[in-house]
Amino acid sequence: MVKVIVGANWGDEGKGKITDVLAENCDVVVRFQGGANAGHTIINDYGKFALHLLPSGVFHQNIVNIIAPGVALDIDKLFKEYESLVERGVPKPSLFISDRAQVMMPYHVDFDKFEEERLGKGSFGSTKSGIAPFYGDKYLKIGIQVSQLYDEAILRERLTSVVTQKNALLEHLYHKPLIDLEALVQRLQGQAERIRPFVIDTTEYMHQALAEGKTILMEGQLGALRDPDHGIYPYVTSSSPLAGFSTVGGGVPATAIKDVLSVTKAYSSCVGAGPFVTELFDDEAEELRRRGGDAGEYGATTGRPRRVGWFDAVATRYGCKVHGATECVLTNLDVLAYLDEIPVCTAYEEGGETLTLFPSTPRLMRCKPVYETLPGWKAGIRGVTEFDKLPENCQKYIGFLEQQIGVPIRMISTGPKRSEILYRK
Ligand code: GDP
Repeated sequence: MVKVIVGANWGDEGKGKITDVLAENCDVVVRFQGGANAGHTIINDYGKFALHLLPSGVFHQNIVNIIAPGVALDIDKLFKEYESLVERGVPKPSLFISDRAQVMMPYHVDFDKFEEERLGKGSFGSTKSGIAPFYGDKYLKIGIQVSQLYDEAILRERLTSVVTQKNALLEHLYHKPLIDLEALVQRLQGQAERIRPFVIDTTEYMHQALAEGKTILMEGQLGALRDPDHGIYPYVTSSSPLAGFSTVGGGVPATAIKDVLSVTKAYSSCVGAGPFVTELFDDEAEELRRRGGDAGEYGATTGRPRRVGWFDAVATRYGCKVHGATECVLTNLDVLAYLDEIPVCTAYEEGGETLTLFPSTPRLMRCKPVYETLPGWKAGIRGVTEFDKLPENCQKYIGFLEQQIGVPIRMISTGPKRSEILYRK
């Protein structure tokens, strides 16, 4: 059977830790979209790690980790990550890469930077990892699949055409140095040899694993509101982070999905540009940012300070709906221990109207939060593993969020470590 772990909001909900916890009882962990642009922070017996491209099952010896066709495969970054794990004492993970995954090119990363420079103030806050140019080329059908790296004639033919187009843009739009075809081919052939031992038909592998009764965990990156169709377009990512897309980018039958775990923080955080209705500013924001996560709310990939705000039930309800969440996981609950009162956004106000459904972007940009305020619990709950041992007001906060979201909250994370988790019946 297939379980999917996805973010209900803007990303950084703490999916990495939850995947690491759940991976223990799974056989295969799969990345199905995105690339090295986002990061999962995982703290376990080996230390603290920021994973970008590797699936979060890499710390478990019995797990097969898969980079599926939907991923933007940055080969150099993948190896850097793989090697840094091994250097820090993690046993060599078992890893497969799909022969249908497409390769992140150096020019994708360059074009990402050049385009953000060109847009200046109007930029989207890209992590400049090449993601948008990569997926742009994929859907223009000028991307390079892993399998094509091993056929020099095909590789050269495709790249010759791509380089002509890219060089015209480099010369006339961006005024930057041109791409050297020969150097590019050589670089790709070197990378192809490095990944050769890992490359298989991962779709077939997963279908067989399912036939053998194995459990596959699909690991989403970012969150529902960054989906290109259902999110806050254009402040979105370029591949779908929705649970349903795991069947497409991952390669499992849609009917195999049994559980969709939608992860949300006990407050909100968001990296990059775009509307963020419950955003806090100044001292209030600074305090929440400083206390959030395991070492403050700063991006795992970019180190950028995250924007923070109160829990947004309108956005989370919507996120869980578009994922088809069967349950919700609440993380970072321990962070709120310092507050006397905790506002929760239960509706938006726009042009004199009260909205409980998440609107499309132009309206969303005009929305103001409508808050209900709950009493805080003013007590540390770090590492509490039983629901009944949580302070009463803390239990009430969880109950209130659950009622607002309309999806059961079954797992609650009370600290960044693997052991700091509680299950609710
Ligand atoms: P992901 O991309 O969804 O995996 O999220 P990130 O790893 O970017 O962000 C989550 C942050 O919260 C990281 O700094 C985690 O170490 C941290 N974290 C996860 N769960 C908890 C928790 O329950 N409490 C606290 N204090 N930090 C947590």
